[in-house]
Amino acid sequence: MALIVQKFGGTSVGNPERIRNVAARIQRACEDGHQIVVVVSAMSGVTDGLIKLAREVNPSPDVREMDVLLATGEQTTIALTAMALHALGQKAVSLTGAQAGIVTDGVHTKAKIANITPKRTRELLADGNVVIVAGFQGADAEGAITTLGRGGSDLTAIALAAALKADLCEIYTDVDGVYTADPRLVKAACKLNEISYDEMLELASLGAKVMQSRSVEFAKKFKVPFSVRSSMNDNPGTLVKEETRKMEDVMIRGISVDKNQAKINIAKAPDRPGIAARLFKPLADAHINVDMIVQNASTEGFTDVSFTVAKDDLTRARKVIEPIAKELGAGTVADFEKIAKLSVVGIGMRSHSGVAADLFETLAANKVNIQMISTSEIKISVIIDAADADRAMNAVHAKFRLGCP
Ligand code: ASP
Ligand code: MG
Repeated sequence: MALIVQKFGGTSVGNPERIRNVAARIQRACEDGHQIVVVVSAMSGVTDGLIKLAREVNPSPDVREMDVLLATGEQTTIALTAMALHALGQKAVSLTGAQAGIVTDGVHTKAKIANITPKRTRELLADGNVVIVAGFQGADAEGAITTLGRGGSDLTAIALAAALKADLCEIYTDVDGVYTADPRLVKAACKLNEISYDEMLELASLGAKVMQSRSVEFAKKFKVPFSVRSSMNDNPGTLVKEETRKMEDVMIRGISVDKNQAKINIAKAPDRPGIAARLFKPLADAHINVDMIVQNASTEGFTDVSFTVAKDDLTRARKVIEPIAKELGAGTVADFEKIAKLSVVGIGMRSHSGVAADLFETLAANKVNIQMISTSEIKISVIIDAADADRAMNAVHAKFRLGCP
């Protein structure tokens, strides 16, 4: 008998029929002899709807009241899921985050979990119940309702699994698992059976948005193994866990593409100490996240500096940079929106050499020009023309033999 935490996302509980399907799945797990704790999100679209509603009565709603409002989305789903289980003859009890002992700090709308006391959950389980906990919420030390930030139900599930020392946490969503590349862009993409926390983090933060990255970080810290799988079928999904030796045998685990970046180029900046600081400090002060930075070799005391930011930040970034470039006596400031960042990710890179060479050769053979390069221990990223992105992705995917065997 295992203790399993099952989390169902907004699409999986998006209508009454789907809630009944979820209930049937939970009941099957009970019949297999397991103890089940369920975490649910709000039905898809509900949280967005509540935010919109709030703005209609007040353009800048108080964050405490916002949390009281947003928490109702998940409360609806826990009650409905419990009712659906009752209809199948299965004992089930719903709990709000606070009732499940989830204590957070007091930072409304993006609270952090401080601790979890799963006493009530344990009692209810021992009494033969499925325990259904509202995701995305808790209460601060004074008892005020808090929420954990968008997508926070994943965190509730992982944190509960850690607190309960569950055998497994299953994240049910609308995709089959984690793939070697986005299957919509790469036909040959293959679902991965397992992946390490670090690889999952890189692939998720690079746009393969399957799960909230904070939850993956939490799972890594507390060594909670979890699987990502579909609530619409019985496919086993992808197991995310601590890395093993064997995982390093594979050089590349997956590729991702991020089309949400833009590049800014400052021509002919004077090449002397303090220039980079002068350019990038104000961007940091404006909370603009700079991703890649390239500074060219200097000629006659001048150098070109390029960097990338999220597309949404481009206008703001230009506004910050232009006056500084002028003050420094630099040349023109230009921006490029039609770029893509392609990254290959794998913990195997630590022990294999030649990944970069293979990547660059494949891009060259496909006439894809590289504009910028950055590397980390388990990742190589290149900035290329957006128009080349899909072609490059498919070629690189084939080169590293990432298709299903
Ligand atoms: N309902 C919340 C949201 O839409 C939390 C979640 O779905 O994980 O962000
Ligand atoms: Mg969600």
